[in-house]
Amino acid sequence: MILLKKGSSGNPALKDWKVEIVCGEHAYGCGAELSVEFKDIFKHAESNSYGSGITYRSKCPCCHQDVMIPHEGVPFEPEDVIERPAWLRFKRNALLMQLAEETPASRHAELHDALTEDGIECTLLSKLFAAELQKG
Ligand SMILES: [Zn+2]
Repeated sequence: MILLKKGSSGNPALKDWKVEIVCGEHAYGCGAELSVEFKDIFKHAESNSYGSGITYRSKCPCCHQDVMIPHEGVPFEPEDVIERPAWLRFKRNALLMQLAEETPASRHAELHDALTEDGIECTLLSKLFAAELQKG
């Protein structure tokens, strides 16, 4: 076997890395003080009149604005960092799983209807509540 590229999950430099950021320091935000870890970060490709490039960002848990992560001294490369849509999907799915776990099975149909009404539709949602939906 030939090792082509080491996976990022096994990299202790990434596991232990964190940075303290003030929300709104580099963009719009609420001033919350945040400790951001590697798993909180996604990359965002930008192009404007100055050119194009990758920014590293996270989402503020208070105001939901993007928080910019300075590039200086980070122990990762753009290819190590998850893309924005994948990161958002991952977070959404984690939240849906949590909602499903915390909601009694007897109220799954109600929760499913409420989420669908809010425009949240995905295969995971249908799967999570499949048993209850079949009854109805
Ligand atoms: Zn904020």
